[in-house]
Amino acid sequence: MNEIRTTCPYCGVGCGLRVANGTLKGDVSHPANYGRLCSKGAALKDTLDLPDRLHTPTIAGRDAEWDEALDLIAQKFADTIRDHGPDSVAFYVSGQFLTEDYYVANKLMKGFIGSGNIDTNSRLCMASSVAAHVRAFGEDIVPGCYDDLEEADLVVLTGSNMAWCHPVLYQRLIAAREKRGTKIIVIDPRRTSTCETADLHLALKAGSDVALFSGLLVHLASSNAIDETWIADHVSGFAETLEAAWEATPSLDATADATGIAPADLQTFYDMFTKTERVMTLYSQGVNQSSTGTDNVNAVLNCHLATGRIGRAGMGPFSLTGQPNAMGGREVGGLANQLAAHMSFNEADINRVSRFWSAPNIATAAGRKAVDLFDDIASGKIKAVWIAATNPAVSMPRAGDVRDALKACPFVVVSDAWPTDTTALAHVVLPAAAWAEKDGTVTNSERRISRQRAFRAAPGSARPDWWMFAQVASRMGHADAFAFQSPADIFREHAALSAFENTGQRLFDIGALANLSNTDYDALEPLQWPQPKRASSTGSTRLFTRGGFPTPDGRARMIPLASSTPKRAPATLRLNTGRIRDQWHTMTRTGRVPHLMAHTAAPLIAMNPLDAQMRNIGQDMLVRISNAHGTALMRANLTTDQQPGDAFMPMHWTDEFASAAVVGKLVASNVDPVSGQPDLKGSDVTVTPVETLWVGRLVRISSALPDSDENIFWTKTPNISGTAFELSGSSPLNTVITSESALRRLLQIPASAELVSYSDPKKSVFRYAGFTGERLDACLYLAPEGAALPPRDLAETFLSRAMSPLERISLLAAATPALTAAPKEVICSCFGIDAARIKAAIRDHNLASVGEIGASLKAGTNCGSCIPELKKLLQQNKETEMAPAK
Ligand code: SF4
Repeated sequence: MNEIRTTCPYCGVGCGLRVANGTLKGDVSHPANYGRLCSKGAALKDTLDLPDRLHTPTIAGRDAEWDEALDLIAQKFADTIRDHGPDSVAFYVSGQFLTEDYYVANKLMKGFIGSGNIDTNSRLCMASSVAAHVRAFGEDIVPGCYDDLEEADLVVLTGSNMAWCHPVLYQRLIAAREKRGTKIIVIDPRRTSTCETADLHLALKAGSDVALFSGLLVHLASSNAIDETWIADHVSGFAETLEAAWEATPSLDATADATGIAPADLQTFYDMFTKTERVMTLYSQGVNQSSTGTDNVNAVLNCHLATGRIGRAGMGPFSLTGQPNAMGGREVGGLANQLAAHMSFNEADINRVSRFWSAPNIATAAGRKAVDLFDDIASGKIKAVWIAATNPAVSMPRAGDVRDALKACPFVVVSDAWPTDTTALAHVVLPAAAWAEKDGTVTNSERRISRQRAFRAAPGSARPDWWMFAQVASRMGHADAFAFQSPADIFREHAALSAFENTGQRLFDIGALANLSNTDYDALEPLQWPQPKRASSTGSTRLFTRGGFPTPDGRARMIPLASSTPKRAPATLRLNTGRIRDQWHTMTRTGRVPHLMAHTAAPLIAMNPLDAQMRNIGQDMLVRISNAHGTALMRANLTTDQQPGDAFMPMHWTDEFASAAVVGKLVASNVDPVSGQPDLKGSDVTVTPVETLWVGRLVRISSALPDSDENIFWTKTPNISGTAFELSGSSPLNTVITSESALRRLLQIPASAELVSYSDPKKSVFRYAGFTGERLDACLYLAPEGAALPPRDLAETFLSRAMSPLERISLLAAATPALTAAPKEVICSCFGIDAARIKAAIRDHNLASVGEIGASLKAGTNCGSCIPELKKLLQQNKETEMAPAK
């Protein structure tokens, strides 16, 4: 197979990949990653042949032909629009879409159905950054580029666990720091892996971002660090903004009070920012996913605009986008409040886009944003919805209500590559081509458009999303406008629209790409926009170097901001949600790769030991997390990385991977009033201990989920030959395993299978194994809560293999030393190296650096995602050595 260059489908870094002869590696020539990959990107080859792909369209659960399914969708949407108007239908799409998918779906909804009701899961990710960019710059523009990270002297990371969420960019930053001594400041309520390499961690009170950056603006003004010439030439609103900042944070003590940060640390941050010309501030979900998200971002932009530190090498504000194509979605108008090509719902833009598309029925007003859109489904205003490449039954706030809304909705279409909690609620399910099977483009966080190239055929009759939307559009009577034959056709039209009647007033202009031939499109190298046709266009690496903001007066706008830190009921904890290192979104791909599950195998709630003590919660105890919207069950992880009053839960777990761990069910639907982005980091929850009587470890060939029983909590991890479940029960075992047939059901073995057992009733220890002939089909270990269970390794090693009589005894006795070892805490996923081994090597061989650990064990030498954790282990060893002997 010839080498194919494509792009990673996970985060907004947008790393390039090279695929050839069954190997997949980082693309050394791609300007985003120069060959690097993180643990998720490096494991992409393991996701290519995952089981359970959707192969065929289904209607009400039965297989159907594409024609039948597409005709039905077109008819149902047309009937609904005829009877209830265009706003009675909606699309909810995804930052996983390629730009071409997005373009076609948006054109259909806004141009030809005539409603603004298309929104995207990017609303949950960076809508506040979009809104703040538009307020400040006049257009949704990221001024800088990745190279700036390597040219900065100070990098401020606010609301970003970059080490885990944008790992390759983080590695570039760390490499640059080794060369030029870049200082790093992390602003985050919790201590994350990113803090391991920071010069300063500011653990601000959740929700106090505006106060922190208003205080910085006041400090900049007091220190004569304002660039008055730049402001006079390029910025409006400075005086009002500074006055508002003075009012909000009149003194360092007032800022310290508002933010919870010690005055000395504030002073250090403010002094470092003031004295460093080359300073970058990177912001991500911790800033965006807030009920004041837009203000949070504008507070950052105000400081850069006031100092003129924007658009020049090594300085500027920088939005880290979460998803691989969140930026591409913004380019085509994938958000309900955008029209297309960075145009909005004003009269001139509506008229322009309408003429370009020849769409007389174009939408004339913004549609419903994600939270409102699902509320409209719940209230019955929206009666037909098409959800594509996203799983709102897990990821939306009030996910329980979203499920109820979809159950009650008269017509639900879901297109996806794998079954999800949302496909389970659809009337029509369409099998979508997945990453490796799709052609198109994506745009990463630095405005860089890269080609995603197919290198495999889609299984069954799976098809790309753009094709599905174009087919439905044709069947709704718009064949001419949707006669696209390929992604290249779509891209050319998208590029032409960006340049249409654009003489420089819209910076998003890729008109130079509007006439690419199919061959040129296939060969398109990664490039940053803008790429206008105009001969006068200059480079596009950085924007606003000499001002030229796309506002009516050409000036950027500083925004006066009021500051208030949200209050919390004393009995509750403030629930922060976010990513873990090796998982992506709702785990449809990464959750099926055993070694990616090794780093964090089960959902957990991280909370401060003081909060736990007040609630009689011990380490690893099962707890119930609840509020008015829902409930979740998981084990507690007590850590001082969390501030008292705050808790953290990963966002990834679905009903497929745990019995009750969907974080979205606990998230309130408070939204930022400007951007409509939900506050995914500020829901109040109560946390209470759950008394469990027993624990179990079940390893079996069958991946069927255990019967639902509210007294049993389970989590699931895949392994090479089957599936492993961790179980806990709060009702006596004999009420769960009531008979041999109940036991066989749990083991998923038929009556004909041989069942062998070992029991020690005095210790409440029970072990079972099921065999077909000599082959091990299932193994179950049970013990009282608090007692150690044999590790999964033995059962996993023998699963689906023939076992000798002696091995059977070992299996049930768990007798070998290797089998009684503590469970592994895997740090390096690439080489499967656990914390105990690394600690021993550091101690026994006096390893003093990450490089020495790599040379000794290989840990950290492939993707580098575990480097912050290696540094933490080195630091812990140092502290142990320095501690006085007892
Ligand atoms: Fe993919 Fe990792 Fe690169 Fe993000 S940082 S694009 S997840 S390889």
